[in-house]
Amino acid sequence: MADAALDALYQEVILDHNRRPRNFHPMEHATCSADGKNPNCGDQLTIWLRVEDEVVTDISFQGVGCAISKASASLMTQAIKGKTRGDATALYEKVHKLVTGENPALATDKELGALRALAGVSRFPMRVKCASLSWHAMKAALDGAAVHGAAVVSTEGPEDARSAS
Ligand code: ZN
Repeated sequence: MADAALDALYQEVILDHNRRPRNFHPMEHATCSADGKNPNCGDQLTIWLRVEDEVVTDISFQGVGCAISKASASLMTQAIKGKTRGDATALYEKVHKLVTGENPALATDKELGALRALAGVSRFPMRVKCASLSWHAMKAALDGAAVHGAAVVSTEGPEDARSAS
């Protein structure tokens, strides 16, 4: 497919997930959660996960932000649900390399499925933080943030910064 056609397709995926975000609700029986903030753009979201026997059996998010941050979080919930903790971490690392452009080959990696729609973000440095925010929050939650005393990740601080409370 020509680049322009692919760009249009990817743009449509982003717009669709922004308009109708999937798994967009708080979760009552989450086992871990984390908040993410991107002060540069004003993106704020919370990620909830339910992890049972090392498998992410459910994941949801809620928040406010730009189209990229919302679409990325929505795409993430679809991609992570049903994955093991290890596979979710591996995907987090892959997506990080995709949106930063660190590994351009990932833009055509079929395993990434709809997540490839985020590849274009690498051309816009300001948008990289928008796209990676939900993934950082997901990783912080997986790494042990409890529902009460949720970790807060900020694109302007260390990734594992905890809330002061
Ligand atoms: Zn944003």
